[in-house]
Amino acid sequence: MSALLDTLRELQELDREILRYRRYQRELPAEVESRDHELKEIDRLLAARQAEKKESAKKLLHEEGELKTHEGRIDKLRGQQNEVKTNREFKAFQNEIAVLVSERGQFEERILDILNLQEGIDTEIKALEERRRAKEREVEAARKRAESEAADLEGKIAGLGGRRSGIARGVDAKTLSLYEELLENKNGLALASVASGACQGCNFKVPPNVLNMLHKDSDLVKCTHCGRFLFLVDR
Ligand SMILES: [Zn+2]
Repeated sequence: MSALLDTLRELQELDREILRYRRYQRELPAEVESRDHELKEIDRLLAARQAEKKESAKKLLHEEGELKTHEGRIDKLRGQQNEVKTNREFKAFQNEIAVLVSERGQFEERILDILNLQEGIDTEIKALEERRRAKEREVEAARKRAESEAADLEGKIAGLGGRRSGIARGVDAKTLSLYEELLENKNGLALASVASGACQGCNFKVPPNVLNMLHKDSDLVKCTHCGRFLFLVDR
């Protein structure tokens, strides 16, 4: 195998490693984002519960007002009852008052229902706030982890980049730019091996004359189908 091909293979190994690290880097924010998304979902639930709480406080105020009005009516009737002259009138007031007193229970029940509901909402809000704090810590930890991993990968990439430039100096400019173009356009694979007579980059059969050139160590031979540089492995 030609020295140039050897150099290009070495280069490709480094480039593929760099690409792999770059891909890891790109994937890093996704983990933070998904946790952040969960945090926003908790915020949404929390806002809904808080709106419910506000709504029920309004209802409570209304029911309490109704109860007060009702009790005012009872008091008023009692006052009037004290001023009647006949037993019959007294009895009539007594009946009316009894009806209103029995109705008062309904207002009280409604108020109790609201208070119970509020207690449930408060419990949910407390639990959601707890979940929110935990999720916030998770987001922060994930962010820190991602940052440190990104820095770690950046260091590795810089190291590989240094080695890469050293190797790339051994390749003429024209071949290097051809190689880089292939690397970019052929999914990070500029050089492909030949196995069982087929290019391993595109799986197409390599014609006999091309195989012949490869066996003769001709400098650089390209796959007639995908255009990648070919090399033989089992020799
Ligand atoms: Zn091919």
